[in-house]
Amino acid sequence: MIKLQLPPSLWKATAAPAPETRPLDQDVTVDVAVIGGGFAGLSTALHLVEAGRSVQVVEAGDIGWGASGRSGGQVIPGIKYDPDDLRKMFGWEAGAKAAENFGSTAAKVFELIDRYGIDCDDTRSGWAQPAHSKAALPAALDRCRQWKALGADVAELTKAEMADLLGTDSYEGGWIDRRGGSVQPLSYTRGLARAALSKGAFVATHTAATGLSRSASGWTVSTNRGSRVNARDVVVCTNAYSKQLWPKLEQTIIAANSFQVATRPLSANLDRMVLKNQVVASDTRRLLSYFRRDRDGRFLMGGRGTFANPTTDGDFAHVERMLARAYPVLANQPIEFRWGGRVAITQDFLPHLHEPEKGLLFLVGCQGRGVALQSKMGEWIADYLVSENPAALPLPVTDITPIPFHGLRRLYVSATLAYYKMLDLVR
Ligand SMILES: Cc1cc2nc3c(=O)[nH]c(=O)nc-3n(C[C@H](O)[C@H](O)[C@H](O)COP(=O)(O)OP(=O)(O)OC[C@H]3O[C@@H](n4cnc5c(N)ncnc54)[C@H](O)[C@@H]3O)c2cc1C
Repeated sequence: MIKLQLPPSLWKATAAPAPETRPLDQDVTVDVAVIGGGFAGLSTALHLVEAGRSVQVVEAGDIGWGASGRSGGQVIPGIKYDPDDLRKMFGWEAGAKAAENFGSTAAKVFELIDRYGIDCDDTRSGWAQPAHSKAALPAALDRCRQWKALGADVAELTKAEMADLLGTDSYEGGWIDRRGGSVQPLSYTRGLARAALSKGAFVATHTAATGLSRSASGWTVSTNRGSRVNARDVVVCTNAYSKQLWPKLEQTIIAANSFQVATRPLSANLDRMVLKNQVVASDTRRLLSYFRRDRDGRFLMGGRGTFANPTTDGDFAHVERMLARAYPVLANQPIEFRWGGRVAITQDFLPHLHEPEKGLLFLVGCQGRGVALQSKMGEWIADYLVSENPAALPLPVTDITPIPFHGLRRLYVSATLAYYKMLDLVR
């Protein structure tokens, strides 16, 4: 049996220790089985045990083995859609409610960190969205205006203010959302696991769910250890790492790679200049660059990955070029860490909740913005299971609908990337 251990990364090298967990080698019966030990699965488990439910989490690898332990760790409120888009999509009232809900996601992360004393190098200096071109600036400022109208702590930034905040004049201005911040994502994921364990959840690692079947009292989850979890409800939080656990689930998302690089800790001079206020940022490009510092003063740059998983340092060359373009002053900084992970993109760019049968819930599709979203999703899903009231969920539950021609995804992802790259150059 292959052991899914976290691949080398900055986060693995600097994380707080993981709580002790073991594979599941005997059958158990609980109220809820949760599949997947990332932000979503662990937050769901934590909120369920807080509500008095018994929970068994099964994770195929180490805690945080998926995107959660490899993420950029930027805590960003909201989803890819702006408040006005949500009102257009769902109608005035439901859209306004969705905007309010998604606007509250970052606060959930910091609330959990505070409540459970999670040691994860969190910062709360905000998330900035700098405009990569003059043409991209009006949309960024409009986004800021929409959130401001809802009372969010946001502010527009001129080109000079953005240059001062980021320590580079590569951008045309933009806005800052002071609700945002950052975490060391693997430490945060481990902290969620520790919190769930402290409240009585059972968390098994190196235990993959291999089948889901109906039973007299709910569901049975079979595992690759030969053990079974019997539960009334099952929540599947496997996101971009979903395989064929349920028919067609994997075909509802594009699992795209995102890559990051981290420099060595910056010198005192650069330290004073670059992102000096600990703000984190993702720019307005369609193929966006996201960047931040870490606890020890390294500079991190992230961006799109190759379709295949990385095998050589050369696979990260485009991210290093992005770093040099955004921060010419860092162009020659030695790179200490390179790593990547997968993000789940849905066809309509919304997170998807599916319940194909009673008591069997799937959550997929965070579009690369899941630190805050999946943490809050855990609370919403737990509320839904406890109350059985669909109004507890931020979006309607939808059918599992495969993306047409999913088998050709490599072709159209390449075509979309080329198109977006061209648009980013001209706009
Ligand atoms: C490189 C990178 C950078 C990112 N940067 C940011 C960022 O800065 N800010 C932000 O908001 N978001 C970011 N994201 C997105 C964010 O990390 C994800 O949205 C989030 O981690 C998803 O959490 P999750 O719990 O849904 O899924 P995951 O963390 O992927 O967890 C799914 C888990 O399910 C497990 N699993 C799969 N199948 C089975 C099975 N059959 N049985 C048991 N377990 C199984 C996997 O091992 C995995 O651990 C980034 C993602 C990547 C990859």
